[in-house]
Amino acid sequence: MKNIIFIAAPAAGKGTQAELLEKKYHLNKISTGDLLREEVKTGSELGKKIHDMQVKGVLVDDSIVIPVLEKRIEKDNKGEGFIFDGFPRNINQAEKLDDILEKLNNKINYVFHLDVDYDTAMKRSCGRLQCKKCGKIYSKYLDALKPKTDGICDDCGNEIYQRSDDNEETFKERYNTYVATTEPLIKYYKDKNLLYKIDSGKSIKEVFSSIENIIGK
Ligand code: AMP
Repeated sequence: MKNIIFIAAPAAGKGTQAELLEKKYHLNKISTGDLLREEVKTGSELGKKIHDMQVKGVLVDDSIVIPVLEKRIEKDNKGEGFIFDGFPRNINQAEKLDDILEKLNNKINYVFHLDVDYDTAMKRSCGRLQCKKCGKIYSKYLDALKPKTDGICDDCGNEIYQRSDDNEETFKERYNTYVATTEPLIKYYKDKNLLYKIDSGKSIKEVFSSIENIIGK
């Protein structure tokens, strides 16, 4: 069983790599960003609160995210392992994830730090598109990530849209949040000998190949 985490600035490529890993290794991908966006879609009071935080580029409170994640792990725990896309994003979340997995006699096996410079991530964020239904990621600019038909998801045929937090202003806030709150996780996992640094400025294929070389083909 493999449990995998990504530590990555916004739009560094974690969602795209998580999708590829999910397909190749038959793991369960859990994107906390997608789970939270699902709640936003319901139009509930909680969803409105989450939307506000996402548009501001700040983290949603641990008291909201952690129970949502825990519920999803319990539901999807079929023994294959998980890819956590966007969780943990601070030390408290990392400690809680260790506890949740320990209760299931499980642990984190690999932590990939997808390293990319600010300008590259900003461009990727402003060009990113996503399927409204299944969450698959596309790009306005990268040929490898363009949908076959404009505006339509290749996988499920639903509409592709631009997320409200994928703009220059929110990107800056999200990046600052990443540096202040999420980057300390690099040391946390380095100390546990779980951290692998990957150059995520490279092409999608090259990044995936570096990850495969570590996990095993
Ligand atoms: P993502 O889809 O991973 O880029 O996340 C989009 C937004 O959802 C973030 O900017 C946060 O506002 C929120 N979010 C996603 N995952 C988390 C998390 N683990 N903790 C707190 N907020 C999160």
